[in-house]
Amino acid sequence: MNLNEKLQKYNEWVFRMSAYRMALSIIAIDKLTVAPEAGADYRDKRTAFLAGELFSVQTDPEMAQLLNELRTEESLDGETKKAVELYAKMVHDTVCIPKDEFVASEELMNASYNAWLEAKMKNDYSIFEPYLKQVIEIMKKRYEYRGSDMPLYDQMLDDYEPGMNREKYDAFFGALKERLVPLIKKVTEAEQIDESFLHQEFDKADQKKYMDQILAYLHFDPSWGYQNETEHPFTDGTCSNDMRTTTKYLKDNVVSAILSTVHEVGHATYQHDVDERYDGTILAAGISSGMHESQSRLFENYLARTGAFWEANYDGLQKQFPQQLGNVSCEQFVNALNIARPSLIRTEADELTYPMHILIRYEIEKGLFDGSVSTEGLDRTWDDMYEKYLGVRSKTASAGILQDVHWSGGSFGYFPTYALGSAFAAQFVRKMRQEVDVDEALRSGHFEICVNWLKEHIHKYGCRYDADEIMKMATGEPFNVNYYLDYLEDKYTKLYKL
Ligand code: ZN
Repeated sequence: MNLNEKLQKYNEWVFRMSAYRMALSIIAIDKLTVAPEAGADYRDKRTAFLAGELFSVQTDPEMAQLLNELRTEESLDGETKKAVELYAKMVHDTVCIPKDEFVASEELMNASYNAWLEAKMKNDYSIFEPYLKQVIEIMKKRYEYRGSDMPLYDQMLDDYEPGMNREKYDAFFGALKERLVPLIKKVTEAEQIDESFLHQEFDKADQKKYMDQILAYLHFDPSWGYQNETEHPFTDGTCSNDMRTTTKYLKDNVVSAILSTVHEVGHATYQHDVDERYDGTILAAGISSGMHESQSRLFENYLARTGAFWEANYDGLQKQFPQQLGNVSCEQFVNALNIARPSLIRTEADELTYPMHILIRYEIEKGLFDGSVSTEGLDRTWDDMYEKYLGVRSKTASAGILQDVHWSGGSFGYFPTYALGSAFAAQFVRKMRQEVDVDEALRSGHFEICVNWLKEHIHKYGCRYDADEIMKMATGEPFNVNYYLDYLEDKYTKLYKL
């Protein structure tokens, strides 16, 4: 085969995978949003079949060979070269696991998920513990097949955030610990801010009406995006011009749905803004978990929690809820949006204490894979760490070690990217604020000015460049955790008059 023939074969393979992926995405979104429950069994069986077909296409040995040949072609353009590299890694990491073991481990993950659900419902860690132990063992085996000389947990970290390892995360979390633990203590001891007015009764239908204004303000355009409702908000899609996102309305909390909407629209906008030419290829995605989370958190925390954002949007909210918010000023409202208070549940944590929840999970994961932490008694280890870092202790396993689903499915190394994302965002925003008047854009209803900056410096590249390359191109320097810590210190010192 000459190069042109090779590329043609490669492009056909890429297209075939994109067709299966599109089908599987739509089916998954449908299942999580509107699909009638009674048809689940019929659908699930066919979905599993399609996933198996995709697996076969993905692991085609002929393609593995072809990718290896293409990798050595010097005449490939930069984009194709990068895509080939990413596909080669994907194929290698899947092909190396014997199929029967892959199937067995998928079955274990299903059983483990069910055990986790049951344990959480019954508030009993001992139901989940034996599964957690097995999941860890099977993950060790899975990674062994890759034959990498990188230590196991480093490989896991690298999967979610290419280029990251324990050494870098240790430095990152070490810096967080040093500056945030004392700051959280000071905030906890300071005079507290009133936020009781956020927790009255807010009719869900009225909240939905208001959400249309927010979606329009964010430039989440119905021509390429659609919002639905689910228990756990998420974002998915099939291509840059077809993004689906969801939110969740709470009757006794008016800001929860708004902030979760802004967060998910951050994810959706990132995907939407990736260069359309990459549609259907491995380049058409966020480059890493941390980078994706940086964009959602940038929208949520660095834009939607500011006074300028609410100068444009608070009037509308007050008009929607005159009884509840008529006597609350914009400033009081924004202060309430930003309160910090140590708590037990990660997903409900505020901007300041959130990274501590992640630090705890990181230290436990690290220990589980270097042998210094055991699954036995891990519920107590968990509670002790919450007490140490946040000064709170859970009375139940459900609000403690059983709160997150991740470990039941073998997702180790994922959590740290959540904290990293917030820190990336701080550095991006700092640069964006030097180049455009962010507050003026937000105040005057020109949210697209922020979006355009992000598109130009981050979004459009998709997976064309690694996260650290994008960081350098966008901000002119490597990632520096101090911008994040300076931001938090400055913000909370002012808010709590420390
Ligand atoms: Zn997110």
